[in-house]
Order: sequence, then structure tokens, then C-alpha cells
Amino acid sequence: MTYPAFHNLIGGEWVPAASGKTILNLNPANHNDLVGEFPSSHGEDVERAVEAAKKAFRTWRLTPAPKRAEVLRRTGALLQERKEKFAREMTREMGKVLAETRGDVQEAIDEAFYVAGEGRRLFGVTTPSELENKFCMSVRMPVGVVGLITPWNFPMAIPSWKLFPALVAGNTCVIKPATDTPLSVYNLVQTLVDAGLPPGVVNIVCGSGSGAGSALVEHPDVRAISFTGSSAVGSHVGQSAARGFKQVSLEMGGKNAQIVMNDANLDLALDGALWGAFGTTGQRCTATSRILLQKGIAAEFTEKFVARAKKLKVGNGLDETVEVGPQVNAAQIETSAMYVEIAREEGAKLLTGGRALAGGEYAHGTFFEPTVFANVKPAMRIAREEVFGPVVSLIEFETFEEAVEIANSIDYGLSTALYTKDVNRAFAAIRDLEAGITYINAPTIGAEVHLPFGGVKQTGNGHREGLGAIDFFTTWKAVYVDYSDKLQRAQIDNAE
Ligand code: NAP
Ligand code: MG
Repeated sequence: MTYPAFHNLIGGEWVPAASGKTILNLNPANHNDLVGEFPSSHGEDVERAVEAAKKAFRTWRLTPAPKRAEVLRRTGALLQERKEKFAREMTREMGKVLAETRGDVQEAIDEAFYVAGEGRRLFGVTTPSELENKFCMSVRMPVGVVGLITPWNFPMAIPSWKLFPALVAGNTCVIKPATDTPLSVYNLVQTLVDAGLPPGVVNIVCGSGSGAGSALVEHPDVRAISFTGSSAVGSHVGQSAARGFKQVSLEMGGKNAQIVMNDANLDLALDGALWGAFGTTGQRCTATSRILLQKGIAAEFTEKFVARAKKLKVGNGLDETVEVGPQVNAAQIETSAMYVEIAREEGAKLLTGGRALAGGEYAHGTFFEPTVFANVKPAMRIAREEVFGPVVSLIEFETFEEAVEIANSIDYGLSTALYTKDVNRAFAAIRDLEAGITYINAPTIGAEVHLPFGGVKQTGNGHREGLGAIDFFTTWKAVYVDYSDKLQRAQIDNAE
């Protein structure tokens, strides 16, 4: 079978990895469908990419921000034209259903237009001086060369959250895509190039985390690292970046809870739970992996939820009638199967699913049944650890306060949802849930690009994408202009 060969993008040229080695990208719904081969890069390739980015920085930083933003605006328009093609290619390379890959591309389109507007803002702050005849202001400067490391579950949206704000702020970039999903990053960056992005402003280095990723994090001329992925890898990346005194933004895992109160609109809560737990085959950082049910509705909710989970159509995401695509690779299947075993041993009750799907239409892919566990106790591993698959735990509670305590009793803090008609409870939840995102009467998934995105505790290290991205990708410069024509000494000449 023939398939295309892709190279790294360095200084505007498409070049193979120095090693000459490649990695095959295949369709997780059908391993006989080969998407393409991509370079397996290491330190030497990263070195060249960083050199190219440093060179491009000299002129890109001087390009007026509204002009930089024009490239993003054109990118948004081109992505609109290419949306269907890119969505299909994304489904082929990582499996999620077409409706969702269209949404992924749409998120990049929304981000392009949102961030393009920033070209005419990038606001700084002016403030009075404590001295006479002196003017004070603070302006945003680009950081320099930034390294971007992205996961496979939102293969175009997440790279766009990082690339676009970095670019409008005047930085140049080296991006290392997830090994499972380089094609969507190629599609995104090719679109930037077609929209007029100068050579070297964005460079792609494909390869493994340990090969290309760690070389990028360690490179002394990379001034900031923006990483999205697991907490285990994020911890390593954060420590390594700290050794080089780099700015580092870490967006990591979740174990997101949907709380359903007795007074909730039950059908709405069911729709939300189904979408939150099994959308993207449970492979979202914001996936609903715990459903907390108040005793009064627990039995009815459980029965209806399991009935609907059983009816979900699992298959190839290119088939428009399919609701749940494959998991991205065999390792993810093993993780799901491992947690099913752990949950059983812990005494949770398997209500449906629990197995990898094999044979027939599933013979050449990595599919897992939508899986529901009941009788889950908050202390169990299945209630605390991220599965990143179509496996959800039902936990019962008596009072609202207990639900909040259970929701907060984990190491992660990304997304939370509360279903209730009680406005007082809703506001108490907004105040008390330890998470970067709280939804009221909506599922744990569904972030919009212009709000802050990120989490607390082991989910993040305090930065935000979306609304917070410009803060990460710029550094403040304080500017003092003294027009008094004499030496004025702050803290001394104006002291009483
Ligand atoms: P991952 O295994 O942590 O990988 C993330 C990225 O880091 C990939 O590009 C990976 O490369 C790279 N990497 C691996 N080891 C590295 C190292 N030593 N140095 C530098 N880079 C390294 O995560 P994933 O499996 O792709 O994605 C799933 C995880 O991402 C989940 O935990 C999910 O919750 C999290 N996530 C979080 C958010 C958020 O915004 N909070 C959003 C989406 C996903 P390879 O692909 O080559 O391994
Ligand atoms: Mg693939």
C-alpha cells in the first residue's frame, strides 16, 4: 500500500529527519489504512529548527502586530474552506467521529478570528509616576523562540490555542506534534504558510517525546514551553524546563465530575452525561469520568444511562451514523482494560461494557465498549485516576455538601458540572468546586475559545489558554520616560 511521506518544516523547507528514520501514522479504526509516514526526529533536528526560529524572530518581532494578525485572519478563512477535508483526515489519523473532528477544526477557526482581533489590542498599562515630569507605561514584548508540545486528542484545536497567540504576540515557534497525530498539525501549519506566514516563523519537528520533545524542552535558546498532555509527562517537562529557567505552561489531566441533584432535569442530565462520558471515546481531558448521583434519582438515572450507553454505536468515525469511534492506539485500550480490572477488584459493579471489541468490523482497529461501573466509592482508584477511555464511574451521595467534598477529593481540578434547578446551590458550587471550569446544567465538556481554559491542582501550573494565552506568550517591559531634565531618584526624592 502506498502512502505519503511527510518531512519536518525547518526555515520554510521540508526536510527529512537527520536520522532518516520515520514513524508510520495509521488509522486506529483500520490499521490497514496507512495515513502517512512522518520523520523520527532528535536533538540535531531540534537544533536546526530552533536556529531557524531564532533567525525568523529578528524580523517577525518587528512586524506590526496588526499585520501578524492578518496572517491569522487569512488562516481562519482558509481553514473554513478546508474544514471538511481536514476533519476527514483527522478522523482517519486518530479516530474520533466526524462531527467531533469538524468541531476540532472549527475550534481552530474560532481561535484564528478571536486571536486575530488581539493584533489591534495587546494592551499594556499606563500609570502615573511618583515623580514629576516622568511618564510610566508597561508594554508586552514577545518571549522569543517558544516550544510547543501537543497531545493527540485535539490534534488541531490545541495546537491552534498555542500557535495563534504565540504568533500574534511576535514569537517564533517550534512545534512537536503528538506521534499519533502529526497530520493535523501539518494541515494547520501548511494553512498558516498559505496565508502568508514567513519562513522559519513556525517550524515542525516530528518525533517521539523522548527524542524530539525532551530536546526541545532542554534547548537553551527556547525561552518558553507550552505543554498539553498527561500529568506524568508534564511533571517531567516542568522540572526540565525549570532547570533552564524557562517559562512553562502545563495543561494536564482530569477526573471530571458531573453532579446530578434530585431536583435536576433528569433527561438533560442524561444527555449531558452520555456526551461527556463517551464523546471522543472518553479521551478528553474534560471527559466526564465520575457521575455523582443524589440518592433520590440514582436508581432511575442509572437504569436509563446504562440503557442508552448500551445502544451507542461504536465503529469507524468516518461513518456518519457511528457515535463512538476507536481509542487512539493499543496502549489506550490496555489502559482501559487495566482500569476495568482494577475497578472489579476494588468491588465496583460492572453494569455494561468492560471489553475491547474484536472481530468483524472491529478486527483491524482499537475499539472498546462504552463501560459503566456502579457502586463506586470515592476512595477507589477508578474514582481518582484518569482512565482516558470510555469508562465511567457512578458514585452515590446524600447531600450537596457531600457531593462537593467527593468532587474535590481528587488530585486533579479541570472541569466540573452540576445539574440542579436550585440557583443557590448553583452559586455555591461555582464558589466551592475546586476546578478551572464549572458548568451549570451542561456537561463537563464544551469549552469556548475566548474563556480561560485550564485547571488547578495536578491539572495545571497556574497558566490558562484562551483568555490567558497572551499573558503566557508575552513578557512585560516597564518603561520610564523622564522629561524633567534632572536626576530624579525614585523612593528618595519624593519621600517626606
Ligand atoms: P502525553 O503522553 O503526556 O503526551 C503529550 C505530548 O508530550 C506528546 O506530544 C508526547 O509525545 C510528548 N512527550 C512525551 N514524553 C515527553 C518528554 N519526555 N518530553 C517532552 N515531551 C514528551 O499525553 P497524550 O497521551 O498525548 O494526551 C493525553 C493526556 O493529555 C491526558 O492526560 C489528557 O488529560 C491530557 N490533556 C490535557 C488537556 C488540557 O488542556 N488540560 C487537553 C488535552 C489533553 P509522543 O506523542 O511522542 O508521546
Ligand atoms: Mg494515527
